[in-house]
Amino acid sequence: MPELPEVETIRRRLAEVLPGKQIRQVDLHSTRSFGGDSSLLVGRTITKVTRRAKVLQFEFDFEAALLTHLKMTGQLIYVAGESRVGGGHPTADWTQSLPSAHTRISYYFTDQTELHFNDMRLFGWMRLLSPAEVATEFAKYGPDINQPDLTVEYLAQQLQTRRVALKLALLNPTVVAGLGNIYVCDTLNLARLSPFRPANSLTIQEVERLFEAARAIIDRGIALNGTTFDGKYVTVDGLAGGYQNEALVYGRAGAACLNCGSTITKVQQAGRGTYYCGVCQK
Ligand SMILES: [Zn+2]
Repeated sequence: MPELPEVETIRRRLAEVLPGKQIRQVDLHSTRSFGGDSSLLVGRTITKVTRRAKVLQFEFDFEAALLTHLKMTGQLIYVAGESRVGGGHPTADWTQSLPSAHTRISYYFTDQTELHFNDMRLFGWMRLLSPAEVATEFAKYGPDINQPDLTVEYLAQQLQTRRVALKLALLNPTVVAGLGNIYVCDTLNLARLSPFRPANSLTIQEVERLFEAARAIIDRGIALNGTTFDGKYVTVDGLAGGYQNEALVYGRAGAACLNCGSTITKVQQAGRGTYYCGVCQK
């Protein structure tokens, strides 16, 4: 599942090519992937591509926004002649002709370019919403971890009220949005904090360390265009990320901790893999 750095990477790529594009036609290959009245988009021009948590938002020259969640297997691919821009779950659709068998929605622009939403497993969605509906959707999330106005005090206060394991509190999107499993594991290693400690046991100094580490890891993820684990497609130009080559602990069970050289352990924690170093994350 794409995490914040991957979604932000797709946003940045699409923000370079989509603003100014006028929609000529919308094809719904799967009606369950689209919410709202797609005919309202015909003749409309995209003005902005923004993001909140892991939700992409396409804004238009009228009072509505198209929200998009890629979930497990979503992809967005913009096609302009031979050139392709986008990202998401790495599958052969990245290189095949589009629309493909997994294309759920296709947008055709007046300048003969196209945007395709592919989703193998159909959990992803695109929804055309009013500004009030957008506000309701975004009210479900805590602040983004890289939102400039997020403070250490806010994070400390959120953790103080929770007795669950620190890692689980950080994965809860109502506490903070945009810290998924990969980046939480690495954040806790960089901050030298155990994933199993009760969230409310941290001192303010430890919360500060955690906050700095989380931002550093997320910034690094964005700088490297996110994480792509499927080796088959990582060389497709411009579509894959590079964070997997620099992960501190995630995906590195049995390898040496980059900080102290001890062996990295993997355990299951609430159904997700937790990678950590038992020596520097006591
Ligand atoms: Zn270590």
